[in-house]
Amino acid sequence: MSDTRHSKVLIIGSGPAGYTAGVYAARAMLEPVLVQGLEPGGQLTTTTEVENWPGDTEVQGPDLMVRMEGHARAMGCDIVGDIITSLDLATRPFVAQSDSGTVYTADAVILATGARAKWLGLPSEEKFKGFGVSACATCDGFFYRGQEIVVIGGGNTAVEEALFLTNFASKVTLIHRRDELRAEKILIDRLMKNPKIEPLWFHQLEEVVGEDTPMGVTGIRVKHVTTGEITEIPAKGVFVAIGHAPANELVKDTLETHHGGYVVTKPGTTETSIPGVFAAGDLTDHKYRQAVTSAGMGCMAALEAERWLSEQDLDSGKDTTEPLGYGAPASAAE
Ligand code: FAD
Ligand code: NAP
Repeated sequence: MSDTRHSKVLIIGSGPAGYTAGVYAARAMLEPVLVQGLEPGGQLTTTTEVENWPGDTEVQGPDLMVRMEGHARAMGCDIVGDIITSLDLATRPFVAQSDSGTVYTADAVILATGARAKWLGLPSEEKFKGFGVSACATCDGFFYRGQEIVVIGGGNTAVEEALFLTNFASKVTLIHRRDELRAEKILIDRLMKNPKIEPLWFHQLEEVVGEDTPMGVTGIRVKHVTTGEITEIPAKGVFVAIGHAPANELVKDTLETHHGGYVVTKPGTTETSIPGVFAAGDLTDHKYRQAVTSAGMGCMAALEAERWLSEQDLDSGKDTTEPLGYGAPASAAE
């Protein structure tokens, strides 16, 4: 028989949004349960220096997330190492099935599932994933000591990854489809000054080239975006850094989304189209996608969940999946 756990507030996700929601919900005596997911600590665990978290001129991403987890735990948030596999938002209380078999029921849900790296979708990219193709320089950079590496993309992630990879690589080629980077000026400045990095403008990755035995990358073929000319570049590692997409799998069929899958919230709030369901962080933010804005939204979600719960006539704390009878969910955002 599966174990069922009820809470007033279930927080799904353990990035800056989830942990901040955990701190605030715990301090509001809501006894929240937070499910961490496959990536405890979220995206910042895949980077090194974070230089724009207020109060820390420089902090390692994984350290910051360990501190956030400790903070939420110390306030009384129950942090669980599990993954939510499906979410029923049509019943009350809400019901979340999990990878461990535990069924989480909750009067209110805070969605903080963040975002995940995008891929180009090339068959050769798929073939060499884990064998020379990666989307995480901090995870895999160490394997390419003294080797030539390419990074694809022109945003903050691509530039940071290229800079980080110079710690290991003999040369890093940054391949971008335009001749203008969308990364922050301070990062572009560091990139341009780094003698190990060579940008290649107006090119797109066409194919990852490699060997089957042993499986590994030997280079890439890139195409000029206007002339169509193909160039081959030797490389042992290919880091794809072309942006992130919202991790909306649990709610893409039940909540309203926009701008490529970001969950819609009522302007100025974290309220979704279903009362009692709140969304915070990169899952809902197509514009800023920063740790500090995610944390801010986590705070808002917890405060709004508390207010919403106090307005409901709930017999909370019951270990039950029976509907509590406070009406059907709304079908559209306000
Ligand atoms: P995320 O950090 O994406 O966390 C999502 C969480 O949801 C994870 O814990 C995951 O396990 C969990 N989850 C997902 N699905 C499920 C599920 N089904 N069940 C349970 N849990 C689930 N921002 C900055 O401000 N400064 C920086 O220097 C900076 N550097 C960055 C470097 C890199 C390489 C990257 C990729 C991003 C960087 N960012 C930076 C952006 C920042 O990391 C994000 O804006 C922020 O982490 C978003 O927080 P979040 O809480 O919304 O979600
Ligand atoms: P991003 O800002 O969306 O940039 C994605 C880059 O990949 C863009 O340069 C884009 O090119 C390129 N690209 C997209 N699709 C492509 C394709 N199919 N082929 C080739 N190139 C493609 O994503 P990100 O860099 O991952 O950053 C995501 C968010 O996290 C941002 O809000 C960022 O500020 C934040 N972040 C912050 C920090 C920091 O504060 N230090 C560090 C990392 C990330 P175009 O420019 O031509 O569109």
